[in-house]
Amino acid sequence: MAAILALVGRPNVGKSTLFNRLTRTREALVADMPGFTRDRHYGTARHQERDYLVIDTGGFEPEEREGLVAAMALQTRQAIAEADVLLFLVDAKEGLAGQDEEIARELRRSGKPVLLLVNKMDVRHAVAELPEFHRLGLGTPITLSAAHGHGMEQLWTAISALL
Ligand code: GDP
Ligand code: MG
Repeated sequence: MAAILALVGRPNVGKSTLFNRLTRTREALVADMPGFTRDRHYGTARHQERDYLVIDTGGFEPEEREGLVAAMALQTRQAIAEADVLLFLVDAKEGLAGQDEEIARELRRSGKPVLLLVNKMDVRHAVAELPEFHRLGLGTPITLSAAHGHGMEQLWTAISALL
């Protein structure tokens, strides 16, 4: 059976961009607007003869902030329930946010394997901020650029090591 990977994280950190890269879908669209995803939520990936089901989260567009927080929490919880490995994205350009800490707490509580992915490292943004991501208590962050495809081999190596 295919292992299930779920992408979680607050809006605009690059979940859908990574989803598209992992599943290599071209037709899927990544919105330039924070919190807005028009693409599919399930895709498949194949790496070294192994099949994966990849779940994107965050395909919601609530009006108010409260709605957004609730929708995010619900999708994160569903992803936690379904996934074998959780891929938790944070944004190197923006640094650590309060919402990241809330999600991290939920992920730690779940006891499921989590990989902390510091995305948008394409131009070596905020290398100085890496220690702050360590504070999330989810191990050593993996740096990557979903947009440029950097760090994908390290990501697959880390995923394989957990399964
Ligand atoms: P989501 O809300 O978490 O699904 O985030 P998206 O995948 O929709 O990406 C949000 C924005 O971040 C888009 O404008 C993406 O092009 C951009 N983005 C995603 N990955 C990267 C990256 O590695 N580097 C940079 N500079 N931008 C990225
Ligand atoms: Mg998205």
